[in-house]
Amino acid sequence: MSSPIRVPPATQSKLSKLGLHTEFDLVLHLPLRYEDETKITRVDDLVPGESAQVEGEIIHSEVAYRPRRSLICQLQDDSGILFLRFLNFYPSQQKQLAIGKRIRALGDAREGYFGLEMVHPKCHVAVENTPLKQALTPVYPTTAGLSQATLRKYILSALQAVELSDTLPSDLLKTLLLPAFDDSVKLLHNPPAQIDEAALIDRAHPAWRRIKFDELLAQQLSMRVHYQKRRDRNAPQLSIRNTYSSALLKALPFSLTRAQIKVLEEICLDLTQNHPMQRLLQGDVGSGKTIVATFAALQAIENGYQVAFMAPTEILAEQHYLKLLEWLSPLGITPVWLSGSLKKKEKSAAAKLIAHGETQIAVGTHALFQASVEFNNLGLIIVDEQHKFGVQQRLALRGKGKEPHQLMMSATPIPRTLAMSYYADLDVSVIDELPPGRTPIRTKLISDKRREEVFERVRAACLQNQQAYWVCPLIDESEALQLQTALETCETLTKIFPELSVGLVHGRLENSEKARVMAAFKTGDIHLLVATTVIEVGVDVPNASLMVIDHAERMGLAQLHQLRGRVGRGAAESLCVLLFQQPLSELARARLKIIFENTDGFEIAQQDLRLRGPGELLGARQSGVAMLRFADITEDAILLETARTLADELLREAPEIAQAHLERWMANKPDFLHA
Ligand code: ADP
Ligand code: MG
Repeated sequence: MSSPIRVPPATQSKLSKLGLHTEFDLVLHLPLRYEDETKITRVDDLVPGESAQVEGEIIHSEVAYRPRRSLICQLQDDSGILFLRFLNFYPSQQKQLAIGKRIRALGDAREGYFGLEMVHPKCHVAVENTPLKQALTPVYPTTAGLSQATLRKYILSALQAVELSDTLPSDLLKTLLLPAFDDSVKLLHNPPAQIDEAALIDRAHPAWRRIKFDELLAQQLSMRVHYQKRRDRNAPQLSIRNTYSSALLKALPFSLTRAQIKVLEEICLDLTQNHPMQRLLQGDVGSGKTIVATFAALQAIENGYQVAFMAPTEILAEQHYLKLLEWLSPLGITPVWLSGSLKKKEKSAAAKLIAHGETQIAVGTHALFQASVEFNNLGLIIVDEQHKFGVQQRLALRGKGKEPHQLMMSATPIPRTLAMSYYADLDVSVIDELPPGRTPIRTKLISDKRREEVFERVRAACLQNQQAYWVCPLIDESEALQLQTALETCETLTKIFPELSVGLVHGRLENSEKARVMAAFKTGDIHLLVATTVIEVGVDVPNASLMVIDHAERMGLAQLHQLRGRVGRGAAESLCVLLFQQPLSELARARLKIIFENTDGFEIAQQDLRLRGPGELLGARQSGVAMLRFADITEDAILLETARTLADELLREAPEIAQAHLERWMANKPDFLHA
């Protein structure tokens, strides 16, 4: 610890185990809970299950051997007798608790075998009229070998040593109804006896609100600073020319929705700027993001730049490739396909076309950003299902151009607070309506016991010229086991449906085979497609109107929503059957209820956030970075809004305050945002 507080090396290493490296870290090491040694409760008034401090004389003390060795004492005050029981004890404790001693004991009262008791209470000798503590005693998160007393000692010294003056002006704090920073931390480490303890524990007390607000403000500031920095870099200005795009617009069998036009305007305007676009395009499954991205690509191409269009899986990337081929080749633009599964020769041929600028658009998987691929003049990167990619992968692709624009797409709808909190460094466009003519998907929850009925439904649908998916379950996150189930399921279903053509697609399939199966399903040569969750993202076969998800109770909400989005893409009424196995865990029951009751992805994501917290919802971007320690973006949504507004204001009008606040909160923090 680089500080004037002297800490012996052994303690230092324990502190760093707790993530405490600086004095300021100690200041922010806030108590988990408190013990109340500010008052004495009469034995008679003890409430089982509640913690209290009692004072009295030891009238009995013995070591019992049954059921196991323990020290049992009786403490008496003028209202009654309390048993104190210790399972592990030292001779010194035994001495301390000798008959006739006056003791203060703090612990949880409970109904014991002999009567009211405390097990392992915290005891000390009390001479008559020993003064009571004036403040609640904090209990800190700690680690083995580091006592509360030691931790507390260093925290108290840190509170003395660290400069705690406010980063925010007092009139601002008054408007925000927030207390001063130093008062807040001091209060949390040493709350006065008469404080509302429940508010401390719930973190609703103003002192807690101040800490949470500061943290949120620091987060917002740092993200906005990164956002600004990016705007200082130079990107190619891609002006709106409409040479190809008006031709495509005319050729499309549908017209764009109002929402598609709106987001497209936002994107096209971004591309005309001389700083790189970093825009997240959100839209529920089936909302039509691909065509929007295609128009963005055309704007780059019209200006003589290349486009990289990347998707997380081969199936999805190939589907995009085929779509782009269909849309763009009539315009004389030929996309190039590049994926890991290509033969070496094909790969180097594709790479050559890209490097020599002979193709304007390359479509593929992460193979696009391998070192061997060089773009001639990359102007725009489109990343589909961006949450499936890690930050590193996106960075690698950015390195392929001087400073390309980036369009990221996601069908995992992000609740507003989450977007504000974790994507504050991006601009966000939202497609908030589906193309017309879709019939809503019906969802049915069916117990596995009624599997036979589901078979009949599948048969009936397929015999009426519809197509169906049968999605196999996740098994302990193991790909091998999932594969095995898929093979078995396919075998079973082939036997059950001799009159249907049953296909199988899974992650381990050769890519050419995968492509063949998907193509056969698209043309209707396969009626029933047995699939693992590889079809989760993006797959678009409008004639498929029935989906059965086997063991739906094992899947997460986002996944269920994505899977369900594979049907309901055509005009026929679609049905999604969630087959589940009993008994259901509470979490699984909650998930199935949510997916059954909701079709709107944003609503589902919002409820998912409530169910699981933000960490899991975000995936790769968050890997290993706990960005918020104190604030909770669901509970503290209002504070977050305020922090966000203030962050923008400060950066505009009082950058020195912003700077000071960032320095206090972000010193030593890993730079998680350089993407
Ligand atoms: P997602 O947003 O899930 O990626 P897609 O881009 O795959 O959705 O679009 C889903 C389907 O809707 C595709 O078949 C696409 O061609 C079609 N589509 C897109 N926009 C429209 C529109 N405005 N009207 C009708 N169909 C559309
Ligand atoms: Mg898509």
